[in-house]
Amino acid sequence: MQRISDAYILDNFSDAISQEYIKPYFQPIFRSVTGQVCCLEALARWCDPVYGILTPDMFIPVLEKHGLIFELDMEILRAACSFYSEMKQRGTPFYSFSVNISRHDFQKRDLFDRVTASLDTYDVPFDAIRLEITESIMLEDIGAFQRIFKQFHDVGILVWIDDFGSAYSSLNVLQNYEFDTMKFDMLFLKNLTARGKQVLASQINMAKSLNMHTLVEGVETEEQRKFLLSVGCEALQGFYYSKPLSSEDFIALADKNGNLIESLEDKNYWNQIGRFNFLSPSPLTDFDAACGNGTDQSDSLEKNIPPLALIEFIQDQAYYVYANEGYLKSITSLGYDSIEAVEQSFNEKKSDQYLMTNNIIADAIATDKIQELDYRNEDIYYKLSARCLARNKKRAMLAFQIQTFDSDREMETSSKALQYGNALFSTYEIVTLVYPRTGTSRRIYAADFIPEYDNVKAETLKESIHNFCRAEIVPEDQQRYMRFFDLDTLDKRIGNNPRGFVQNAFRLSRNTGPGNKWRNIRISRVPSEEAAVYIYTIQVVQSAEEKMLDVLAEEHPELLG
Ligand code: C2E
Ligand code: CA
Ligand code: CA
Repeated sequence: MQRISDAYILDNFSDAISQEYIKPYFQPIFRSVTGQVCCLEALARWCDPVYGILTPDMFIPVLEKHGLIFELDMEILRAACSFYSEMKQRGTPFYSFSVNISRHDFQKRDLFDRVTASLDTYDVPFDAIRLEITESIMLEDIGAFQRIFKQFHDVGILVWIDDFGSAYSSLNVLQNYEFDTMKFDMLFLKNLTARGKQVLASQINMAKSLNMHTLVEGVETEEQRKFLLSVGCEALQGFYYSKPLSSEDFIALADKNGNLIESLEDKNYWNQIGRFNFLSPSPLTDFDAACGNGTDQSDSLEKNIPPLALIEFIQDQAYYVYANEGYLKSITSLGYDSIEAVEQSFNEKKSDQYLMTNNIIADAIATDKIQELDYRNEDIYYKLSARCLARNKKRAMLAFQIQTFDSDREMETSSKALQYGNALFSTYEIVTLVYPRTGTSRRIYAADFIPEYDNVKAETLKESIHNFCRAEIVPEDQQRYMRFFDLDTLDKRIGNNPRGFVQNAFRLSRNTGPGNKWRNIRISRVPSEEAAVYIYTIQVVQSAEEKMLDVLAEEHPELLG
């Protein structure tokens, strides 16, 4: 590094500002999942007529020592605001900038006023600017800092914690302040051993559970990028993506790649998705954007994460955005050789998987609840869970989790699998797709004790329904069952039902367990299919409901329809 005397810096500083030799370079910050630029960090450069480009380490310590850093920071902020305004005028608006604020600036009484005046001058909305503040400052004068912090917070200027993890008392600052984003120091990446990964992953996990966004700086390699994506880090910055660029170079880059800049609508959408915690053992349950009261999952790492995918739905079409290794494995066991194959099969809207999942996907998109589906393919049991992370008019992002249970033996030996296994069996005993137009049916899943009643063993669909009824339904309920499954009126009855399905309780004649006979049988129509296709399910009822149904059948059988 070239040594430049303190005297040179001090003598020329004011000139360098008025001549605009000092100006920000902008280092793009990338959304990890989309690869779009979601923010620009302004970093000071002094383009000196004598010495060429000076980097901050050559002049910042001098300016700090002589009480001039505040003037530098305010000039960089002003220039960033001016760039905001320039981008807007040329029709390529950019919505978020971050600037560095020195700890010394907090001793200036007019910090807040100077910052907001600069934004006002260039007509920059307050929520377009983030202030990067290193963690060490916050330990010094907590009271004073809290006051000014609140001022910024109240007007919507976001505060980021910079260099997180570089000081030893990092965790203390989190008790006193609420930050928008935790920016992890690049030290974390210098040593990405198994243990280093674990530390970083659990910190990202923690930031999310405290409802903060996550950014890692100093990303230099593809390996680092992949790892950070897999643990759910939302934003990445570093030489791997781009070095700091002059405003001209950034504009040239953005003009060359029309898709580089994240739109404002997408920013809000992705910010919401960013709260999703990939590392939680139960990420879908944990996702509660507003409350952020996560549990401690610091012992879980990538490999322990259940199969997880993010899939985006845009006008009925599915697009994979992300799938972790476990998810890729699961889909292989379902007979697909790639994630693209699953996507294609779904989008063709023909496969059984489509028919099975389409309902829960529609429900997941429409609600904020986790939707679940159990099914079996050959000897493997699956539990698919889906949850909507964010939606806007055009699209919705869903997180999917698959749990698989490979064999009966595994079900018995693994207590966790057993626990899910029980849930699996208590949910559906039968899932069958019924195609009245072709007079066929197709069983997707059935508990072992129920034999097939399909049109292989019967002449027609109606006959197989009848056979099932005679063999499996108690005599008292058979007439009701045949009315319930009357194909001639089914569509109309489903159409009349606002919930989009018909459901009723029937008793199975086979003794399938201690005392329980009652089942909920439901027939729903697969939406958006031209010819009617139905999903037929049999579900065990809860024991409380069972008693009620006994009483009802005894005293008011007419109420059962
Ligand atoms: P910082 O805020 O932590 O900024 C990140 C620094 O890391 C930048 O150095 C950036 O160029 C560099 N960097 C970015 N990606 C990579 C990477 O992949 N690998 C490595 N090894 N480095 C990377 P820069 O621009 O020299 O700035 C150094 C420090 O000077 C900044 O650290 C910040 O603390 C300070 N600084 C810069 N501009 C300003 C300013 O306007 N005001 C104040 N108060 N401080 C500033
Ligand atoms: Ca910074
Ligand atoms: Ca930093």
